[in-house]
Amino acid sequence: MNYEMVIGLEVHAQLKTQSKIFCSCSTEFGKPPNENTCPVCLGMPGVLPVFNKKALQLAMRACLSTNCRISPMNRFARKNYFYPDLPKGYQISQFELPLGLDGYVSIRINGTKKKIGLTRIHMEEDAGKLIHGENLGSPGKSYVDFNRTGVPLVEIVSEPDLRSGEEAREYLTQLKSILDYAEVSDCNMEEGSLRCDANVSVRKTGQKEFGIRTETKNLNSFRFVQRAIEYEFDRQIKILEQGDSVVQETRLYDSNKGVTFTMRSKEEAHDYRYFPEPDLVPIEISDEWVKETMDGLPELPEQKRERFVQHYKIPEYDAGVLTTSREIADYYEKSVSLYPEPKLISNWIMGELLRELKNDGQKISASPVKPEGLVALLKLINEGTLSAKMAKTVFEEMYQSSKSAIEIVNQKGLAQITDPTAIENIVDEILKLNTVQVEQYKNGKEKVFGFLVGQIMKQSKGQADPALVNKLLKDRIN
Ligand code: ADP
Ligand code: MG
Ligand code: ZN
Repeated sequence: MNYEMVIGLEVHAQLKTQSKIFCSCSTEFGKPPNENTCPVCLGMPGVLPVFNKKALQLAMRACLSTNCRISPMNRFARKNYFYPDLPKGYQISQFELPLGLDGYVSIRINGTKKKIGLTRIHMEEDAGKLIHGENLGSPGKSYVDFNRTGVPLVEIVSEPDLRSGEEAREYLTQLKSILDYAEVSDCNMEEGSLRCDANVSVRKTGQKEFGIRTETKNLNSFRFVQRAIEYEFDRQIKILEQGDSVVQETRLYDSNKGVTFTMRSKEEAHDYRYFPEPDLVPIEISDEWVKETMDGLPELPEQKRERFVQHYKIPEYDAGVLTTSREIADYYEKSVSLYPEPKLISNWIMGELLRELKNDGQKISASPVKPEGLVALLKLINEGTLSAKMAKTVFEEMYQSSKSAIEIVNQKGLAQITDPTAIENIVDEILKLNTVQVEQYKNGKEKVFGFLVGQIMKQSKGQADPALVNKLLKDRIN
């Protein structure tokens, strides 16, 4: 029996504001515990929230850059639950009137475009963070840090349109890229500014109705999202095959063991006893304001990608990689403006540069090789000073030492040998040392030619111009 997986993702993204959503405390990450707090975000009795307009502006940008329409009327709602990281005993969120509706994000799977629907985007405040003593050498104790309490969030809820772990990962990559371009969020998973919960169900191929879903939390990398989804898929199929039914529940992912496990039974909306937040007035958003926000958006990844294909005549694939982040795209465009070799530059960024950066876990802004340095190296190849192979060695050294290409070439005497006399000398030397092979070649064993070229290249430490070596060797033997 064949099964299909159905996935809907809920993504929480922290908005890049200086201060929290309902008070003036700083949102800065990494401060000593409970330093960024005040009576409002600590939920003291009698305090009143004041809404941060900047949070609304960023949330609107999130909606418009993901093709949502903006509700003209917005209201906050109280979502009631008890947990030690939630000092008020309720979270201020949105319920029946969310900010954004009916959007989509385009993804590409094996070259085919697919639109993933967004049900809604709403604003809410983040909760605090519990730190369990096991990690601090005091087992049995738990600590709470309220610095994160009241940091503004958008929750982006997708339709159940995703059909594989790979699609889910691609969706997250695109969404992150959009939020990064639109300067809505830092999208830093390590710092928790981007978080994802995965709803997964399975159904028999061809079946119309969806199966019962589970929701998995605690997914702190895109890779883990994909793995957890694939694990859930297998687990749910096994249950169905045994004739049992999947329990609707909230699960956690253990990245060390690669498994999901039960956290709690699934709560329903009515468990939260939502009601309109009485301390905040409804927010009306005018068409002019929506238009103004729309006009203020920068070029988004999808548009940039299409422009790259059109304008630089590079393959779709290249354009996709180069536009994953705005920084990479800027680096690329800067390089091409300095040296109009779009495909060559694309190859070097995708191949050499991004590989080095990935090994180092660095962003392109921290690259020791800047666009100026890269194109200076590429010019050396096109001028014939360096072979493509030597250039890769030089590039690695540039990356490690921050020296320029020409400095390295001069210091190490790496320049390609293009002087025919110098090459002829080496050819003669090799011919003398390999008289047997030369005879074999003359008697028709053509493979020996390659061997001789190899010997000459080796003797020149890889620096001889290969085309010239081939020509001169042939001349000499003949
Ligand atoms: P809840 O608060 O119950 O998690 P939300 O509306 O916030 O509800 O999110 C529900 C998420 O679950 C959405 O992303 C939706 O697409 C997804 N979903 C709903 N039903 C299914 C299903 N049967 N299988 C997989 N995903 C589902
Ligand atoms: Mg949920
Ligand atoms: Zn505060």
